[in-house]
Amino acid sequence: MQVIQSTKLANVCYEIRGPVLEEAMRLEAAGHRILKLNTGNPAGFGFECPPEILEDMLRTLKDAHGYGDAKGLLSARRAVMQHYQTKGIPLDVEDIYLGNGVSELIQMSMQALLDDGDEVLVPAPDYPLWTASVALAGGTAVHYRCDEQADWMPDLADIERKVTDRTKAIVIINPNNPTGAVYDDELLRGLTDIARRHRLVVCSDEIYDKILYDDTTHTPTSAIAPDLLTLTFNGLSKAYRVAGYRSGWMAVCGPKTHAGSYIEGLTILANMRLCANMPAQHAIATALGGHQSITSLVLPGGRLAAQRDATYAALTAIPGVTCVKPKGALYAFPRLDPQVYKIKDDRQMVLDLLRAEKIMIVHGTGFNWIEPDHFRIVTLPRAEDLTEAIGRIGRFLDSYSQP
Ligand code: PLP
Repeated sequence: MQVIQSTKLANVCYEIRGPVLEEAMRLEAAGHRILKLNTGNPAGFGFECPPEILEDMLRTLKDAHGYGDAKGLLSARRAVMQHYQTKGIPLDVEDIYLGNGVSELIQMSMQALLDDGDEVLVPAPDYPLWTASVALAGGTAVHYRCDEQADWMPDLADIERKVTDRTKAIVIINPNNPTGAVYDDELLRGLTDIARRHRLVVCSDEIYDKILYDDTTHTPTSAIAPDLLTLTFNGLSKAYRVAGYRSGWMAVCGPKTHAGSYIEGLTILANMRLCANMPAQHAIATALGGHQSITSLVLPGGRLAAQRDATYAALTAIPGVTCVKPKGALYAFPRLDPQVYKIKDDRQMVLDLLRAEKIMIVHGTGFNWIEPDHFRIVTLPRAEDLTEAIGRIGRFLDSYSQP
């Protein structure tokens, strides 16, 4: 008997760890060293875990071997609650769900919300877990355009045109992965006005809210629209560089009067996974209340800021490559001029780059960008390594053509 995957997976894809990674692993097994510029995993590039988080994990490990509360450790949820209170967002501990990374909570939020055929507005390009999670929950991701000419800001008119009577939610990724765009308050007002008029749940993925360059500031969506039901996602993977601990939270912000049944659904799903990784939950209060070492990394001259600068300079030095300078997050999403580079299949292009240069990046269509004319690169390696690697990508592109 053939064992065939469920049709539920028909439209589910997550290319960041897709076939290109499989080829990279095959090459590694054959003895090649691969420079992996495909995932935003700070630990892979020598970023250390803040010492107080490590100490706290070690100290609490011996008492954290049992199941805990399905929604999460009370002390951690209190810390998250207080974190948002200081930003003017009122919350109760019961509004907070802890998860095995934001990834698990994104999937729960969609599973609890969608019926087959329901639509969710998702940015293009997007962090593809959002599109995949909508599809897995039976919904349809309707992609709204972010405009590269306008520094990758979401196109409000395009969003408005795409709302239908099946639209249930809008996803905002700010700071954005993969573009590095950070939205100002006026744009957030525009986005939330649409949500208000069409009664949409707002899903605001703010996992990069502390990774900001050039004096850029970040406003939580819920602070702009306290009257809307907004699910705010964040966690320890990026700003605290402990992606492997799998620790994130979802805060259900705004009025809950009409969301009782949805919230009940979230709680059922939280109960079904019993609880999130307990040792990592102990680290949340320490992380939020401790020294914010990310700040010195993103200030001018800080390691992440210098790497962002080196990435931008090296990319834009390649003929036919342009890039909107990232204002936040850990990526750049450059454009390959189609007049210069005749690429029909961008996944094939990154596979060919991998085989030729042993460098792994992710093709733009993997982020639900429709044209095969972009790629994403992480800005995590040291500046000199980025400059060297991007130089090699440029030389590869110079002689590259697809039949
Ligand atoms: N949201 C965005 C925008 C991301 O870029 C990522 C990871 O790269 C996640 C969510 C998932 O993060 P976590 O490690 O908390 O699951």
